[in-house]
Parts: sequence; C-alpha cells; structure tokens
Amino acid sequence: MSNDRPADLDFDEYLGIEATLGAHNYKPIDVVLARGEGLWVWDIDGKRYLDCLSAYSAVNQGHCHPKIREALVEQAGRLSLTSRAFRNDQLALFYQEVCELTSSSKVLPMNSGAEAVESAVKAVRKWGYQVKGVERNKAEIIVCANNFHGRTIAVVGFSTDPTARADFGPFAPGFKVVPFGDAEALEAAIGPNTVAFLAEPIQGEAGVIIPPDGYLRDVREICTRHNVMLIFDEIQTGLGRTGKLFAEEHEGVEADITLIGKALSGGYYPISAVLSNSEVLGVLQPGEHGSTFGGNPLACAVARTALKVLVEEGMIENSARMGRYFLEALRALRNNGIKEIRGRGLMIAIEFHEEVGGARRFCEALKDQGILCKETHHHTIRFAPPLIITENEIDWAMERIEPVLNAGL
Ligand SMILES: *Cc1c(COP(=O)(O)O)cnc(C)c1O
Repeated sequence: MSNDRPADLDFDEYLGIEATLGAHNYKPIDVVLARGEGLWVWDIDGKRYLDCLSAYSAVNQGHCHPKIREALVEQAGRLSLTSRAFRNDQLALFYQEVCELTSSSKVLPMNSGAEAVESAVKAVRKWGYQVKGVERNKAEIIVCANNFHGRTIAVVGFSTDPTARADFGPFAPGFKVVPFGDAEALEAAIGPNTVAFLAEPIQGEAGVIIPPDGYLRDVREICTRHNVMLIFDEIQTGLGRTGKLFAEEHEGVEADITLIGKALSGGYYPISAVLSNSEVLGVLQPGEHGSTFGGNPLACAVARTALKVLVEEGMIENSARMGRYFLEALRALRNNGIKEIRGRGLMIAIEFHEEVGGARRFCEALKDQGILCKETHHHTIRFAPPLIITENEIDWAMERIEPVLNAGL
C-alpha cells in the first residue's frame, strides 16, 4: 500500500535535519514513518512494517483505531481545553468509566506517565504527614533497582541507571532503593518514615523482568502490615499488555495506587492518571496540585473511547492468547546465542548472551525484513505488538525473526 500523501523530504533530508536541529536524546532505528493502521506502519517510501513496539505500549489498541479517532475528531470540533478553572462535560464521565473498569474510588488525571509518578509521590508524602503521622520532611519512598518511572528530575533521582542520572543532579532526597523481586529486602528497608513502596509489577525498560511468583502478594501483605502505600506503576504493563487489565491481577492483588498512561489514549494523546482505591488522593486540596492540560475534555473523550474499545473488542483476552502463542513460537527457536525468552501476555523479551554483542543489529536486520522492534538494555529485544495481533501475523513475523536470528548468531 502506498502513502496517501507524498513525503515532503527524502530519507537523507529527514535524518540530516534531525541530526542538525534536534537534541540527540534518542537513537532511533532509521525508518521514517508516515502512516499507521492497526498493526502496521508505512514509511515515506510506502514500505510496510509490523509494529512490534507499539510506541512502548501506548498503541495497544492498534494505530489510528477508527473509533478512537472518531472520538478525537468529534471532540476536537466541540471543545478541546477549558483548564480546570472551569468544569467540562467529559471529565466526570471519564472518572466514572475509569473507576468502574478498574475498581478505583478516586482519580487524578495528568498528561505524561512521569507526571503521574510525580503526582503519586506528592500525594503519598502528604498522606504520610497528615494521616500516618510521619515527621515533617522526613517521608521516605522505597523503589526498586533497575526501575523505570520516567525522566523528570525527581524520577531520575531515584533511578539506578547511570545514563539516566549522570550529571543531572542534585536530586530530591527521600528515596531508598531495594532489589526488585526481593520482598524480604523491602520489609527490611521499611522504617517509621516509610510512606510508600513504588514498583513496576513487571519491569519493562529493564528488559521485561518478571518477579518471582508470590512477590506481588508478598509486597502487598508487607505494605498492609506496615501501613505503607503500595504504588504499582502500570503505565507500561497495564491496560491489557500482559494479558490482564493490570499485571497485578496475575497474583490477585490490588495496589493502593495504580498509575496508568500510555495506552490510556490508544496513542492519540498524552494522558495519564493516578488511580487510588484508598483515600490517599483525598489529602490533596485546591491549589496544591494541578496541570493546565490535565483532565481536559479532548483527553477525557479520547481516553473514554480508548478504554471502551480495549474491553469491547476483546483485546485483553487476545493479548493473553496471542502472548502464549508468540512465546511458544519463540521458545521453539533453537539458537545458542539466546540466554532467555520470557514474557507475559504480549510483553515478551529475548535476552541474548553477552558474547553475542548487543541486540541492536538484530533490530536493524528485522527492520529490513519489515518488523519494527527496539533493543532495551544492550542485550535484550522486546516484542510488544498491538493487542489486536492474530496467529497469522505472528506466523508471518516468526518466518522473519527466525532467519534473522540464525544469520546473526
Ligand atoms: C513509559 C513509562 C513511564 C513514563 O511515561 P512518560 O509518558 O514517558 O512520561 C513511567 N513508567 C513506566 C513503567 C513506563 O513504561
């Protein structure tokens, strides 16, 4: 299929201008995309690719989903932004629908994922002082090694990734790091000033790291026993990616605070939210927190529809089914370079042995074969297609993945 519209520039011009005028804070795979539909994206020359990244799980519903697009266009022609100085006719409906779907009792709408994390940090600190009785300015939040929660100063301040932190200090105090997957280490780190434990239920950017069975249940129990707020960052794992609405459901637990973003708009708009099933968000008073765009009617209309299609079109169940199918197909690969293949739902990773020397070249080779994916941490490739993928398309992908890996290892 060709593009509807001729490209304004050629490939080299696009790359040249980006290199000259843009900050170099990314190192993208060199493909210039111009159009998307469902699982597929097309570059400026009309070449088609299967998207196996889904914009880091923001387009779980597939590119340019017609119903979400319709909601966006319709709302864009009615009312886009009021600020929270006034009320709008979409916010309450968004609250109602997101709370019903996620069994939450309070919501704070924001824009980016990092903002949702920052908002949760503020809320649990205030909860700590006002409700738990922690001494003022002493609140502590425990986080996990190799976490990824975004890029703002407070958030990179509690990252353990040197690339994310180096030369960006000084950082906000009040964070303590424990190993991921080690519930005993969490319990040992809790003190009288601990207000919250913040973790991803499966670490995404660290390379799809799945904690040992029982970990989520154990940390839930520990947090309850010590009156510590459990915050799960489900910005990547949530909204069907792992085959359940939330990854925490794999162990039947509920966090006190759940953070969502990314697929909350199906990729159309930056919208995130802090969901709480306790009264922690109740501590925030007028003027203490906000965002000009947070909770705007366009975002709310888009998010309402993005959640609706996720459920109505069976994408969560499909993620579970196709995730098993894809994982099984990958595990059948016989290849000495592969150290481990792991995944839950359609959040899947292949980790290579150190000697293989980086996963980037496989991503480049897969791109040439019409599959887009991205290495995460030197040795790992993540496969996270939109949740609408079928067996046929997985078979199509496997016919290309297998020879690429075999040629390169
Ligand atoms: C992507 C991501 C974030 C940050 O979201 P942004 O919208 O990029 O700020 C936070 N936490 C997790 C787990 C993520 O995957």
